[in-house]
Amino acid sequence: MAYQTLYRKYRPQTFDEVKGQDAIVRVLKNQINNNRLSHAYLFVGTRGTGKTSIAKLFARAINCENPKDGSPCNECASCKAALNGTSMNVIEMDAASNNGVDHVRRIIDEIAYSPVSGKYFVYIVDEVHMFSPNAFNALLKTLEEPPSYVIFILATTEIESIPITVLSRCQRYDFRRIDIATMVGRMRHITDSEGIEIDDRALSYIATCGEGSMRDSLSLLDRCVTFYDGKRISYDDALEVLGSVDTAVYASMLGHIMNSDVTGAINLLQEAMMRGGELTYFVSDFVMYLRNLMLVQVTDDIENTVNMSSDNIAILKEAAQNISPETVMRYIRVFSELSRDMNYTPQKQVLVEMAIVRVCTPDMEEPDLSSFGERISNLEEKVKNGIKTVPAGAPLVSGAPVSPGSPATAPDEKPQVLMPALPGEIQAVVDNWKVIREQLKETDMLLFNQIRKARVSAENDLLVIVFNSEIPYNIACSDISKDSLNEVFEKTLGSKVRFEMRLLKPEQTYSDGGYADILANINFEVEEI
Ligand SMILES: [Zn+2]
Repeated sequence: MAYQTLYRKYRPQTFDEVKGQDAIVRVLKNQINNNRLSHAYLFVGTRGTGKTSIAKLFARAINCENPKDGSPCNECASCKAALNGTSMNVIEMDAASNNGVDHVRRIIDEIAYSPVSGKYFVYIVDEVHMFSPNAFNALLKTLEEPPSYVIFILATTEIESIPITVLSRCQRYDFRRIDIATMVGRMRHITDSEGIEIDDRALSYIATCGEGSMRDSLSLLDRCVTFYDGKRISYDDALEVLGSVDTAVYASMLGHIMNSDVTGAINLLQEAMMRGGELTYFVSDFVMYLRNLMLVQVTDDIENTVNMSSDNIAILKEAAQNISPETVMRYIRVFSELSRDMNYTPQKQVLVEMAIVRVCTPDMEEPDLSSFGERISNLEEKVKNGIKTVPAGAPLVSGAPVSPGSPATAPDEKPQVLMPALPGEIQAVVDNWKVIREQLKETDMLLFNQIRKARVSAENDLLVIVFNSEIPYNIACSDISKDSLNEVFEKTLGSKVRFEMRLLKPEQTYSDGGYADILANINFEVEEI
């Protein structure tokens, strides 16, 4: 029999086996038990968090002849057909390859008549954000007046690309990234069932590499198991398989880029693809490599910040000496953007090659004049104003006007930033800051260290995190950091918080910018930095 990947083999068959999405499972089970189903569901979340697995379970459960506490029995004719992929009731489609209006019209034709057997037609549309505008329009008409026997489950990793008209017709479920402990627990269950011997530390390293995605973690586990066929897997073994091989490839990719060797870089990429690599992973792993490189440049305690063997850290340190932090950051920017853009196009290879050409030939890039222009206008203003005074009647930073005739601020006195009353969501952040901080320390030590150096302020209902130096600011602006912060907010406050990172202009102070310290009244225990 062909080898079945662990992810497929251990796809949850009942709701009890789903790990890490308890709230969603509870709601869906209730709906099934009480027969209060919606006609359109939207499952949102990063890859590998269980969207498709839960959609399939749900589709089977509502057509099952003998459901057990909301879960499918997996034994009746309807369940078996769905499990074999021969069901007429459960239809899966991938919008990435079926994104045209014709594909949606075909669905509309199919649902003109009620199902011959089973209760519902369930359409599971994966990557629904890939639909063309016309396809969305056609879908919308069906969502407005759906036949009673049709249920749509739309899954997406890109909620921003879903038209609001479609959003408003769906019940939305946000899938969380799965935490390390849950992932380790699930993997331990699987390795025990498979008779695979592996150390705890190795599992938790694999879970960390999986970044909240069960699918990614299991496929990494697969890699280790295949490599150490039958042998007990230690932490060092896992590092060996998941770390060092890649590091070498990425180090030589970086070498080609730094030498402006486009051909060498593209050849290397093609070799990696021929050896079975996947473009999307290649790019995101390369970003991680660059991130580690940057960390080596800015952190003293690198051994505890990245999961790497000391040999690899030594190699990384050597590579870090030959490249400036600014250049590393430029590469990170280009490749993170690339990583995001790759979700939108089937022409992934072309995009990657374009990015390589772009970083190999910096002259082709649009010069970034924005910060340059800003500095000139600051200088101009200083020259024009001559001596720094506060004109009478000019508002203070907090918005309180200075009464005419009041003396100008003494030169060495900082204008006082008054604290306005905070709106509910920002006050919640302040009230829970200690917990938020602890969570962040656990999930993203790097970001925690940067935010500790920043000032946390607010503008109306926008949380503003202000930095006075560029490196911590750039770290905090990365997608990885933003994801960590979003996750911590959702976990501690149960809701999203709008936030923005800001960087002070050269020589500007927090007070100059009007950034009140909203955490000023919180006492933190003294800790060494
Ligand atoms: Zn059944």
